[in-house]
Amino acid sequence: MANKYDVVIIGAGAAGLMCAAAAGKRGRSVLVLDHGKKPGRKILISGGGRCNFTNNDVAANNYVCRNPHFVKSALSQYSQWDFIGLVCQHGIDYEERDHGQLFCIDSAKDIVKMLVAECDLPNINLRYQAEITSIMQQEAGFSLTVNGDVISCESLVVATGGLSMPKLGATPFGYQIAEQFGLKMVPTTAGLVPFTLHKQDKDAFEELSGIAVPAVITTADGTSFKENLLFTHRGLSGPVVLQISSYWLPGQKVSIDLLPTLNLADTLIELREQHPNQSLKNTLSRLLPKRLIEVLITRGDITDKPLKQLNHKEFEQLATYFHQWNIVPNGTEGYRTAEVTLGGVDTDELSSKTMESKKIKGLFFAGEVMDVSGWLGGYNFQWAWSSGYVAGQNA
Ligand code: FAD
Repeated sequence: MANKYDVVIIGAGAAGLMCAAAAGKRGRSVLVLDHGKKPGRKILISGGGRCNFTNNDVAANNYVCRNPHFVKSALSQYSQWDFIGLVCQHGIDYEERDHGQLFCIDSAKDIVKMLVAECDLPNINLRYQAEITSIMQQEAGFSLTVNGDVISCESLVVATGGLSMPKLGATPFGYQIAEQFGLKMVPTTAGLVPFTLHKQDKDAFEELSGIAVPAVITTADGTSFKENLLFTHRGLSGPVVLQISSYWLPGQKVSIDLLPTLNLADTLIELREQHPNQSLKNTLSRLLPKRLIEVLITRGDITDKPLKQLNHKEFEQLATYFHQWNIVPNGTEGYRTAEVTLGGVDTDELSSKTMESKKIKGLFFAGEVMDVSGWLGGYNFQWAWSSGYVAGQNA
């Protein structure tokens, strides 16, 4: 087996495979190393097995990154349309769901097969169960010790992903490489992750497990999302919670509008005209699930009485309660269930046009290992495709 390559890529995930295909097509000799037994393990389980591989509408503001402009160049060098074109070229059927999200119709396996087929060139080698024990910078490139062998390369691409889902092979190895070469890091934390609740709240809401309602959630910095909120036996989940979790800071409250499509005060005034003797609880149970109303009425110390006995001021108070239901999460479920890792290699250290380190010539980063995290909706894979492609064009 050759031990000298133009490009060595660490990580056969979404970004690493994309990078390998791009570099291989330029005629570079490429070796992809992964410590797992097979490629693209996160792709396989993504999107409920159907992989939400991109979104019809991708922009810089769909990403959380200390430098909000960093993603622009890569996203324009390899856009969602380029990836959709590749998917079509491979005859993969896909469908559009809410919010422009694109999913495979059959299986996420199609995406992995496609990427592996793109890497099926004589100058690209994929090696699994590869344990990398050292990486050294040389005069012209790098040398790596892999399963005891020494391998050298001109360019090294780190595409080891983030920390979420350790059981799928996530490790902090990419961060350790960045630190070894003196690159700054943005502290990491779990993103796109359910909230856990303080005991009192957890006990109160546990019985609501399984209830989902449309809601708007807003954090202290004014960021807000409108999607479904799901009560679980562990806390709060659903797309709206996953989205806002990437903007939430520990200790902060979130404000939840449980009736985002109506004005509760006006609605109650109208309903009082029509059904003056109807109880408040029964009225609210027409707007939200009964079990949820019962729990919220108890927690809010709200007295149930006929609508005709309630005045405008009380309606306004109820409106504030249901439109701005404030809760302080205890924390998140962490990397065990998170879809992404916030933070990572500081993008100030990297060229946004090439993904190469500004300090260390020939050292590149691609995908989630850097401080770029997308919203739920196919944005994280699009970042893996775009940054992987750009690194592959330049490594
Ligand atoms: P990864 O795909 O994680 O690949 C990293 C690779 O590096 C892995 O193969 C790993 O084995 C390897 N590696 C790690 N450490 C080492 C080491 N020490 N030595 C050698 N190899 C190593 N995003 C979307 O856009 N749409 C979705 O539908 C979606 N669904 C998701 C569902 C789940 C449950 C999860 C956890 C994530 C989901 N994501 C989704 C996020 C998406 O999977 C990631 O953002 C994306 O995979 C990142 O690509 P990557 O190549 O940077 O990292």
